[in-house]
Amino acid sequence: MPGCLFCNIVAGKTPAEIVHDSEHVLAFKDIRPAAPVHALVIPKVHIPGIHEATPEHAAALGQVLLAARDVAEKLGLAKGGYRLVVNQGADAGQSVFHLHCHVLGGRPMAWPPG
Ligand code: 5GP
Ligand code: ZN
Repeated sequence: MPGCLFCNIVAGKTPAEIVHDSEHVLAFKDIRPAAPVHALVIPKVHIPGIHEATPEHAAALGQVLLAARDVAEKLGLAKGGYRLVVNQGADAGQSVFHLHCHVLGGRPMAWPPG
C-alpha cells in the first residue's frame, strides 16, 4: 500500500532491525521499545488492522502468531514469558495501520493493561 510505513519496511525502502523474515511474515525491533524486548510481527500483505481481516487472511494470521512465538524464542523470552498485543483502532491507541502483533517481554507485564 503506497505510503504505508510497514509496507515500506517490507519493501526494504525503510530500514528496520529485522529479526524474522519468511515468505509471508516479517518481524523487526520496535523503534520505541516499551519493554526490554519489543518486536513487531507483521504479515507482508497489507491488512490495515485485525478488524479488516477476512477469512482469506487466515493463513497469514496464523503465520503471524507462529512467527511471534519463534521471535519470542529467538529473543530469549521463552523461559520468562512474554505478551502478544494487537491494537485495533483509536481506543486501543493503534498508530500504524498495517496489522502488527507486538511481542513484549524482558520484564513482568502488568494486568490489566493501561
Ligand atoms: P501501534 O501503536 O499501532 O499498536 O504500534 C505501532 C508501533 O510501531 C509503535 O510501538 C511504534 O513505536 C512502532 N513504530 C512506529 N514507527 C516505526 C518505525 O519507523 N520503525 C519501527 N521499527 N517501529 C516503528
Ligand atoms: Zn502496509
